[in-house]
Amino acid sequence: MYDASTQKEFIRTGNAFLQHPDQVTTEQLPVLRKLLRYHEWKYYAKDDPVISDYDYDRLYKILERLEAAHPELITPDSPTQRVGSDLSSDFQTVTHLSPMLSLENSYNAEDLNDFEKQVRKLTGEEGPITYVVEPKFDGSSVALIYENNILVRGATRGNGHQGDDITPNIKTIPTIPLFADFSERGIHRVELRGEALIRKDYFETINKQRAKAGLPLFANPRNAAAGGLRMKDPKEAAQRKLDTFVYQMTFAEDDNGQDATNKFEFHSEILQYLNKIGFLVPHNLSKVCRTIEEVSDFCQQSEQKREEYPYEIDGMVIKVDSLELQKKCGLTSHHPRWAMAYKFKAKQATSVLLDVIFQVGKVGAITPVAKIKPVELAGVTVSSVSLHNEEFIRSKDIRIGDQIVVERAGDVIPYIVKSLPELRDKSVHPIVFPTVCPSCHTPLVKEEGEAAWRCPNYHCPEQIIQRMIHFVSKNAMNIDGMGESQIRKFYGLGWLHNFDDIYRLPFDKIQKLEGFGQRSADNLKKAILASKNNPIHRLLYGLSIHHLGRKASKLIAAQVKYVLDLKDWTIEQYTNIKEIGPILAENIIDFFKKPENIELLKSLESYGVNLHQTAEDLPVELPTDGPLSGKTILFTGTLMQMKRKEAQALAEKAGAKNISAVSKNLNILVAGEKAGSKLKKAKALGTVEILNEQEFLDLIEKA
Ligand code: AMP
Ligand code: ZN
Repeated sequence: MYDASTQKEFIRTGNAFLQHPDQVTTEQLPVLRKLLRYHEWKYYAKDDPVISDYDYDRLYKILERLEAAHPELITPDSPTQRVGSDLSSDFQTVTHLSPMLSLENSYNAEDLNDFEKQVRKLTGEEGPITYVVEPKFDGSSVALIYENNILVRGATRGNGHQGDDITPNIKTIPTIPLFADFSERGIHRVELRGEALIRKDYFETINKQRAKAGLPLFANPRNAAAGGLRMKDPKEAAQRKLDTFVYQMTFAEDDNGQDATNKFEFHSEILQYLNKIGFLVPHNLSKVCRTIEEVSDFCQQSEQKREEYPYEIDGMVIKVDSLELQKKCGLTSHHPRWAMAYKFKAKQATSVLLDVIFQVGKVGAITPVAKIKPVELAGVTVSSVSLHNEEFIRSKDIRIGDQIVVERAGDVIPYIVKSLPELRDKSVHPIVFPTVCPSCHTPLVKEEGEAAWRCPNYHCPEQIIQRMIHFVSKNAMNIDGMGESQIRKFYGLGWLHNFDDIYRLPFDKIQKLEGFGQRSADNLKKAILASKNNPIHRLLYGLSIHHLGRKASKLIAAQVKYVLDLKDWTIEQYTNIKEIGPILAENIIDFFKKPENIELLKSLESYGVNLHQTAEDLPVELPTDGPLSGKTILFTGTLMQMKRKEAQALAEKAGAKNISAVSKNLNILVAGEKAGSKLKKAKALGTVEILNEQEFLDLIEKA
């Protein structure tokens, strides 16, 4: 249908339009429509967009503006005359009770002022107008129908009028109630709109698992969510752990088939009601605003906070609160006139792939990393992006010199969405994956079931350095003051070959090194000394045994009195532990079979490093009848009345389980002085009870 040269032409013309949007004339309307149609075709039919969503929106706006000024020039096949489609032939097509429309986009305060002017014109309202401002969730929209209080259907947006029936998958989403009491308000049948989403942190987990398994990665949480809704097997849909925020009631009817939306006066009232009967509704980052200036301020503030928000959002949605005014505004075939999206800054950009370097990891895995022409993505400059593994490079056909599309979604690490082969010139050349280790030149190997090439040389200089970095890291031996730069320096001076060398570092010489003073040397010495008393799970984790993570290290530490006893452990002893599979078990057995590793551990012991199980290695038995039983707790910031360890012990005595990260699983956060990002994150989650130190003590004492 289209060839490569037309695409090049479309991209060039589009860029020219974007450079001078005001100079696009009505003569250029046919070209503009043609190129928008082309980009839609690439996006929807080919699933292979060649411009960013942001640029597409801006081009679309130019078309809208010209058509608004010259309505006589609108053609029935203009891209403005329809909404996007995601219909698939694998599901049954169903018709929505009311169309699922798009939203108009705004980018600044001026656009918002224009929006208010238009609302006033449409409604004749001269007094104050109240708006509800909500996050614009960047997931996949769904339409839910309840009849007699029972969820009877869930569908995708599709082309806006018809969508795919995905009811079995919808029923796996815990935040969508299967029963909700609408009859209390005299509602017999209702259609709700919502957005299915994956939490950003869980999205990263999924991609990590997929990278390990050599599966293609998702570019962003939206794709992962959209894919989840369309799984053929609901069990697989459930594994995506989707959440759904419901943000609109679009249709309601009573027993006699009469409109029942008039049971409510305000959009905010509907949301409150939906929340009361069991739905997740936009709550954090949502606000009822009394003026359009307040709306604009709130949108800008929210953009600052977007990274802290646990879900991906690409803007805010502003809705006129009064349902009566909404009715007066009405709809176009494309969007409601009473709502407006406020778009945040782009997180996608194009850049150029300058070079690829190959990093060696602590167990020898080779990771290709792209060096790109620095670009700003949502306020962060990105110049380096992981390419994961050879398969990733091959499947995306990425070459050095290529124009590439880069995306940074939320906290999610930057990702190369695609290369743009149609823009290649002669200077572009393929990425050659090395056959030998860039550090020690040993031929690389690839083991069955692994996606990564590995350097098999245990004594590879870069592997030694990476292992050292891991050994001293926070979750392993936790040696403060020793980071990558110190390790590289000490290694270069020939002081570090293996972990035990850390315990015989020549401190007389360190003091005299450039960049080291008496004080930092003393601090480092203290930190090294303290690490000798660590519980053994930290040591086990620090050894960089392939696949041995923190959790498994703790489970093993809880079952072994003395680290060297592991010499005699059988594969069954390991695999009897629920989380440990045969591959990991073999890796640990291999490690303890090697005499040099036993020597290493003995040497560590001779320097005073603890190899015996400690109280901290044992799982805590929590009382089941304490005031905090069944709850999880996290302390952050500086506590004034006691040490953090003491507070944690108190919490355990009261039955709470201490956990280390803010997530959906956290019940209570105790925020001390100068609490930082954890407090912010917990607030953004909205589900965490936040206490100060005194409130925590009161709570325990009362009981
Ligand atoms: P667009 O597709 O960019 O025109 O925007 C319309 C889409 O925004 C809807 O189909 C919804 O999927 C999505 N959306 C996300 N959050 C909201 C919200 N709070 N209110 C309305 N629509 C939303
Ligand atoms: Zn090597």
